[in-house]
Amino acid sequence: MSAQDHAIRATSSEAAPLVQDGPGPQGLGGLLAGFVRRHLRAYVIAALMLAGVAVLTVWLPRQIGYVVDALVARQLDLPGLARELGLMIAAGVAIYFLRVGWRLYLFAAAYQLGQSLRTRLYTRLTLQGPRFFQRRRTGDLMANATNDIDAVEMTAGEAMLAGFDGTLTLVLVVAMMTLGVDWRLALVALLPFPLMALAFWHISRHVHEAWAQSLDRFSKLNEHVQETFAGVRTVRALGLEQRSEKHFGELAKKAADTSFDAQRWEAAYEPAVGFTLATATAITLGFGGYLIWQKEMTVGQLTTFSLYLGNLIWPMFAAGWVLSLIERGKAAWARLGPVLHEPLTVEDAGSVTGIAPGPLVAQALSFTYPTQQRRALDDVDFRLEPGQMLGLVGPTGAGKTTLVRLLLRQYAPSHGALLWSGKPLADYSLQALREAVSWVSQEPFLFTASVADNIRLAKPDATREEVERVARLAAVHEDIMRLPRGYDTPVGERGVTLSGGQNQRVAIARALLADAPLLVLDDALSAVDTGTEAAILSHMKQARAGRTVIVIGHRLSALVEADHTLVLRDGRVVEQGNHAQLVAHDGWYARQWRYQQLEASLDAD
Ligand code: ATP
Repeated sequence: MSAQDHAIRATSSEAAPLVQDGPGPQGLGGLLAGFVRRHLRAYVIAALMLAGVAVLTVWLPRQIGYVVDALVARQLDLPGLARELGLMIAAGVAIYFLRVGWRLYLFAAAYQLGQSLRTRLYTRLTLQGPRFFQRRRTGDLMANATNDIDAVEMTAGEAMLAGFDGTLTLVLVVAMMTLGVDWRLALVALLPFPLMALAFWHISRHVHEAWAQSLDRFSKLNEHVQETFAGVRTVRALGLEQRSEKHFGELAKKAADTSFDAQRWEAAYEPAVGFTLATATAITLGFGGYLIWQKEMTVGQLTTFSLYLGNLIWPMFAAGWVLSLIERGKAAWARLGPVLHEPLTVEDAGSVTGIAPGPLVAQALSFTYPTQQRRALDDVDFRLEPGQMLGLVGPTGAGKTTLVRLLLRQYAPSHGALLWSGKPLADYSLQALREAVSWVSQEPFLFTASVADNIRLAKPDATREEVERVARLAAVHEDIMRLPRGYDTPVGERGVTLSGGQNQRVAIARALLADAPLLVLDDALSAVDTGTEAAILSHMKQARAGRTVIVIGHRLSALVEADHTLVLRDGRVVEQGNHAQLVAHDGWYARQWRYQQLEASLDAD
């Protein structure tokens, strides 16, 4: 079984409930509403604290106005002034703690949204089949998991509460200006604000466009970096470094340009607020001064009113900020939502959780890839009893790997059926099926961990003796002992690089340790020399004990021991039988066999 499949097996069980209550198609609003409902307590507490902040913020200017008027009228003695100042300082301290409090409550909840979205995305990806990954690029998916989720998280946290806070402060301040001070002054002083709203609307449209483009370009940049590093050897071997660097430079510039563009539009919010406030303050001083002169207003009231104008800065900023966060969140959700909501390429609807020992049977099995016209498998029949070994051979493109893909349920058959112990594969849960099949591909993946841990992947509690036993069966024990730290040598991306053949044998050891009833070796011995191949196959035959094996190979020496071999060509079975029967048949198999024997004897000379 491949490392990837093990990773799937390790994660899908914990994550299953998340998938079941699962992501139905929903917009960003629906997602956020559901999230707020689930975390209502945190949101309500944060909102109450914010309401406290808003009330105190509105109370302070009124109190200052009162003190100013009392001072002007010489009605306040020193102890009285100290008492008023003490009250104001206490209000300032309370505002500080309430602000810290709401942030703690709110962000703790918002981070949970980020975490749950990441888990949902990860789980979804582990359940998707190859068809999904053919269409989606890795860099894109990585951008989904990082940038896009961050943006949605910001919308759930900062944007929502800043929106609430801003609106509440705005309503209270405007109410106090009109009802508490002077409605005429409020009416005149607030005149520039609708113009600002218009400017905000215009800016936010540009911000949205720029963010959508910026997220896309960041994704492309990610994709290029991921692809270059994954294929770094090819890039170097073909001397493509400069071209790749140039391409990277272009992508990075484009990403930076759009990001700058978005920031530039965001920066336009601030001058719009500044301009509006300056105009409003000038109007206030002019008209307010006139009212004082007319004795219709006190100095304290004008002070209160001017301070209220200052209090409007935050709601104005909040409006711009919230709009841009929402736009960013919407752009991110437009990229993330479809990935989360895309139906699984193979449904996990089977309910049978254990596979009883029994034959594996293909009945008139046919399959056509969704993008192809021609059948990749055409009317294939076989019956494989438990403990038997089936060989699959044929020229490239004959359909061998496709058969394995159907067996692993990466795709569903177009016609006919694959039955295991009498039941179609779709009746089993994917988990059960993955546990029952150990698949070793031609290019297995080793994780960044010690050799021993890489072998132990499917059975983390395996002892060192068990690990060494399977390593011996896979004829890789001696190689491992020659590594600098033996079984503890780190391998994978950040460790020692093993040869292709060593990689394959470590993967075979891993599959043997998993001890699944069906072992599939998909050209898994291609990088191993013939002598070692023979040793592994003979070890495996001894250790097989009831385990069914399917071997795909180009080298027929790997199939001499097979109980039954199918020769495929263009998806059809053109010859079948055991080794002796196939050699006697004198078809493709016999010709290949003679050719490979001759080649081997020439190599030996
Ligand atoms: P090889 O020995 O080279 O690995 P194979 O016998 O395993 O070949 P398959 O990989 O099963 O052959 O391919 C069978 C046919 O299906 C080929 O014609 C191939 O082009 C086509 N095919 C394989 N994978 C896909 C895919 N993901 N999408 C579309 N067509 C595919």
